[in-house]
Amino acid sequence: MGTITHLTGLTQSELTTFVEALGEPAYRAKQVFAALHARRLQSFDAMTDLPKELRAKLNESAAAATLTLESRYLSTDGTRRYLTKTRDNYPVETVFIPEEHRDTICFSSQSGCPLQCTFCLTAQLGLLRSLTAGEIVEQIIYALNDAYGVGVKTPRGVNLVGMGAGEPFLNFDELLKALNIMADPKGLFIVPNRVTISTAGIVPRIRELATIPKRPHLAISLAAPTDELRDQLMPINKRWPLAELLAACEEFEKSLKPSERFTFEYVMLDGVNDADEQARQLANLLNRHGLRAKVNLIPHNPADPLPYHPSPPERVEVFKAILEAKGIHAFVRQPRGRDIFAACGQLAARHENPDSATDVQSTAF
Ligand code: SAH
Repeated sequence: MGTITHLTGLTQSELTTFVEALGEPAYRAKQVFAALHARRLQSFDAMTDLPKELRAKLNESAAAATLTLESRYLSTDGTRRYLTKTRDNYPVETVFIPEEHRDTICFSSQSGCPLQCTFCLTAQLGLLRSLTAGEIVEQIIYALNDAYGVGVKTPRGVNLVGMGAGEPFLNFDELLKALNIMADPKGLFIVPNRVTISTAGIVPRIRELATIPKRPHLAISLAAPTDELRDQLMPINKRWPLAELLAACEEFEKSLKPSERFTFEYVMLDGVNDADEQARQLANLLNRHGLRAKVNLIPHNPADPLPYHPSPPERVEVFKAILEAKGIHAFVRQPRGRDIFAACGQLAARHENPDSATDVQSTAF
């Protein structure tokens, strides 16, 4: 038995090479690419426009899908969390967040995460492995099919955020490849302009991203205004401290279009990083570096074994007001899907099934 190629992770030109190696004409690659990405079919047998013999050949040497659904959780607020497994049995989580004007899909870049952020549950898994481009694309296909139906055209305006499990910038090549595949007008046609990638601050990759013409938007997880505190909360800060991180941000900012902004995420931990003084330090830090960024304040999502509590809403409002008084645009991010462990920092392959949620076993696809 030869190796199985996961076709969802191939660009159109790679798919052409693959199809030609099977002794098939190049136009078949176009058909298969459209079937996989535009029609979002997850098996070759469903591609009834292909000759039977070709489908049989594909079934022998390739896979149209590799993730299998373990559980699907539905929040009272409409958010959905998918827990799938890779072929080698690692957990992958994806979240679908319905919103009034546009829906958002939050995907994972790794199974587990190697970073040790003390406020995040994913850290407890450690790094299991980085995901392939195909596994990244497939998460989006799963979520789209579940939300809109197989074969139904992707509604305009679906946004993607790379804010699930893992550190996307430690899986940079596969991430960029996945974005490239998804941007293809003959496929999903989700362009980088509709994608935001969040990083804990892998400085060389921030600099590299700045040089890429068609790139996603950038978000940076800050969590603290001083090195002393950030070292404790996000140990990656010891490798790339705030001065280096913000210097890379300045570089990145030069590459922005006039109307574009990037984002800092700031998880709000009660009594840890939410004091008035810390708001002033944060505003001064960003202003000193002349950054046109906005700040998203994220109240900490409950993560049971972790020693933190969310800042009270009044605290968040005061913190926000201090930032704004110093000219920083700040927003409070509303938590989504907390009841099904789908909110920021809660992805840790949980199987628990709270009363308010439903766990639909693997029949949806
Ligand atoms: N590794 C990347 C992407 C995943 S984390 C990064 O660090 O940016 C996505 C966001 O969730 C980050 O901004 C992170 O700081 C935040 N986060 C992590 N744990 C959280 C929690 N328990 N409550 C609220 N936000 C959390």
